[in-house]
Amino acid sequence: MQRTRDFHYRSVHDRDAFWREEASRIHWETPFESVLDFSRPPFAKWFVGGRTNLCYNAVDRWLPTQADKPALIWVSTEVDREQVYTRQDVFEEVNAAAAMLRELGVGRGDRVLLYMPMVPEAVFTMLACARIGAVHSVVFGGFASVNLAQRIDDAAPKVVVCTDGGSRAGKVVPYKPLLDRALGLAKSPPASVVVFDRGLAPFEPVAGRDLDYASLRERHRGARVPVEWLESSEPSYILYTSGTTGRPKGVQRDTGGYAVALASSMEYLFDGRPGDTYFCTSDIGWVVGHSYIVYGPLIGGQATILYEGTPVRPDGAILWKLVEQFGVNTLFSAPTAVRVLKRQDPALLRKHDLSTLRAVYLAGEPLDEPTAQWISEGLGKPIIDNYWQTESGWPILSAQPGVEKVPTRFGSPSFPVYGFDARIVSESNGEDLGPDQKGVVAIVPPLPPGAMSTIWGDDERFVQTYFTSIPGRQVYSTFDWGLVDADGYWFILGRTDDVINVAGHRLGTREIEESVNSHNGIAECAVVGVADPLKGQVAMAFAVLKNPAGADTPEGAKQLEGDIMRLVEEQLGAVARPARIRFVGALPKTRSGKVLRRAIVAVCEARDPGDLTTMEDPNALEQIKESLQ
Ligand code: AMP
Repeated sequence: MQRTRDFHYRSVHDRDAFWREEASRIHWETPFESVLDFSRPPFAKWFVGGRTNLCYNAVDRWLPTQADKPALIWVSTEVDREQVYTRQDVFEEVNAAAAMLRELGVGRGDRVLLYMPMVPEAVFTMLACARIGAVHSVVFGGFASVNLAQRIDDAAPKVVVCTDGGSRAGKVVPYKPLLDRALGLAKSPPASVVVFDRGLAPFEPVAGRDLDYASLRERHRGARVPVEWLESSEPSYILYTSGTTGRPKGVQRDTGGYAVALASSMEYLFDGRPGDTYFCTSDIGWVVGHSYIVYGPLIGGQATILYEGTPVRPDGAILWKLVEQFGVNTLFSAPTAVRVLKRQDPALLRKHDLSTLRAVYLAGEPLDEPTAQWISEGLGKPIIDNYWQTESGWPILSAQPGVEKVPTRFGSPSFPVYGFDARIVSESNGEDLGPDQKGVVAIVPPLPPGAMSTIWGDDERFVQTYFTSIPGRQVYSTFDWGLVDADGYWFILGRTDDVINVAGHRLGTREIEESVNSHNGIAECAVVGVADPLKGQVAMAFAVLKNPAGADTPEGAKQLEGDIMRLVEEQLGAVARPARIRFVGALPKTRSGKVLRRAIVAVCEARDPGDLTTMEDPNALEQIKESLQ
């Protein structure tokens, strides 16, 4: 591990020289004047004065060597389509999309919100935004109207680009009605909505507002839109994520730092090179999708696979079939996908030629040992657990085979990635902890290139949220517990806050509570994350009714549960729907009125609820227990 350690040490202690070298991986239209401006901690500005562009680095820069090579490979097992776009094709499509956005008045710094499934037009629109210096905000297709409306209000986009619908496991999911509802809720809806009509879910266009993507693209076929050169710290995108309040946080990413971080990661973390094929099964609505479906592989001169489908349709070998068909070198997925595959015949893992595949990367949620072991043995390939967050933009902890090939350990995402000065600190006094001591995973600022630069429109909230929770020092809190063992391997031990992780989707329990509470029969409720063998965690809701008679009979309770689930699905999306809603007479609370979530979780997981001396009404926890019978 010597080299990994030295490499990391240099990235943090000889920061300027280290990142100056890394910065040469991308094209700078204007060279930067200094590597880092950290004069206003915790705000970090990387590559000050340098001007560059994400789209140029992802597309134009590779045209001289890769114009006719595949760049974007779209596979949809949902609508049975496959289409390979060369770098030149992508260039054409992105220019047309950029011309379309410009015609709609979108310019540098303006926001464009995308509400789209895994279709190439979504990637073209993202890159088109980057090309003209517009800031995209992609909202995950699994989110519904209330979520969407909050994001529209926060980002105030000039244009929304959407599709008529998507498809999930063969079932059409209409997007347009959810968007229309969100636009109805939004305080300042945008003037134009561009709809990419896939012919999946019929809709009535709104006259004077809705425009047709295909017609606009036709009109701008062959257009050439000049690249807008952005100063390195200008925002490239906003990506909303959940926290402990009901209000989502718009994670703001810069331009130059992000391009450099991703470009370096393609070599050091993924051991890849230009011409490789990269397959990430995430969704463009998540950070992993932004970094490793769209920008990372393309900036690294690799072809990227955009996959619309599940890991088990048409059968459990589909991922491996695609690896063989397209000669995939790097596969990036999530533990939940592997747990789904585990229910299939293991022979499917060996059905296809996987000789091109170097390693499988898994992230987004804890990777349990049995799952890691199963996939590792089944494939005979290295499994690389990597830990990061929407905020970090790229892995914080990971094995780094492009730096040094060090054995991994099941259950551990290995070591801090270069650039991240990660520590395990004491929650009570902020001091660094020693081996095997559980503490908060923190990062000493400056956060490295590629990490969030602020919360969109709210510098104060950025500082308050992330840099004030550890006493005694200004460090970034990941809000995860962790420890480092005596050999230097890191372990993640769960969240310190009320954020839960359902099948790799990060959800704020507070948001779900607000949604449940919006049902007029509910007096109050508590939503907690409970361990689940497939999804890692699921949300469970315990609600107190205004009129308990409403759930007196099993039929009445079932009916009400269904109604509330539908309400949450309508407001937040199916991802946020609790697995169960149980009705109780009271919630277990402390004498000061705080809901004892940890005790509720313990009861749900049939564990000892621990110290209950602060509990106001011991009977309340009993009721939770009974409601689970
Ligand atoms: P998100 O911002 O949606 O990517 O969620 C980030 C959170 O997911 C982290 O703060 C962790 O709680 C969890 N997470 C992500 N990757 C891992 C991993 N490899 N191991 C354990 N937890 C993870």
